Amino acid sequence: GSVLQVKNLVKRYGDREILQGLSLEISKGAVKVLIGPSGAGKSTLLQCINLLVIPDEGEIFLEGQPIPYRSKKNLHRYRQQVGMIFQEFNLFDHLTALENVAIGLVRVKKMPRDEARARAMEELRRVGLAEHAHKYPAQLSGGQKQRVSIARALAMDPKVMLLDEPTSALDPELVGEVLAVIKDLVESGMTMLMATHQIAFAAAIADEIIFMEDGAIVEQGPPQKILGNP
Ligand code: ADP
Ligand code: ADP
Repeated sequence: GSVLQVKNLVKRYGDREILQGLSLEISKGAVKVLIGPSGAGKSTLLQCINLLVIPDEGEIFLEGQPIPYRSKKNLHRYRQQVGMIFQEFNLFDHLTALENVAIGLVRVKKMPRDEARARAMEELRRVGLAEHAHKYPAQLSGGQKQRVSIARALAMDPKVMLLDEPTSALDPELVGEVLAVIKDLVESGMTMLMATHQIAFAAAIADEIIFMEDGAIVEQGPPQKILGNP
């Protein structure tokens, strides 16, 4: 079934229509990759889906249920179910890797502290960082920080993961380790929508490539159809 669906999503900044009535649907376990020039609206689309930015028009459905995003009441619960990975990691600098992953479990899921720490350790192990659990973000490389943020999202057990150019803030030599973790997620069956400029990687993991320009989908289909056969 459909995990995530957006219909006719419109977002305006001033007079400019940044998303021009955009629709897409992601079924369970599917991986869709957004590509397109800078300024196309990929990041705005992901922020609208996560309701970090409130759309001006359109509908969002999670597992078929319409999300009443104009009311603040259920936003919190909705966001818990949608994992978000940003370019810039967004970790808490004053918390260790383990605490960064555990904090959502304690604060949001109300998990007992010991249980949360055990679960957080499990997720850090999954991204290959168990031995760095006690370190603060300043002591980690960019690639390690991004893997912590992926572990943090995974700990919440999201129904879908949204990734906004997860490797674009990284030095080139650190990109591979993050892509390898994302690839593991894909293989584990995670439902995913990712914006990236890593075209070869997109071709390797995507069920479908969505090419965006000027706030609209210009073309979508299997990687081979959209990207050709290099
Ligand atoms: P992409 O992720 O594809 O590079 P973005 O979604 O970041 O594109 O940006 C799409 C367009 O929206 C750009 O022209 C950008 O300048 C504009 N934009 C994004 N955020 C804002 C904002 N907060 N206020 C005004 N314009 C914005
Ligand atoms: P580009 O898009 O610049 O051509 P690639 O996506 O081919 O670059 O490679 C960037 C990094 O991602 C490299 O370190 C490569 O090892 C890694 N990578 C590429 N494809 C995959 C894949 N399918 N799985 C895991 N890592 C990959």
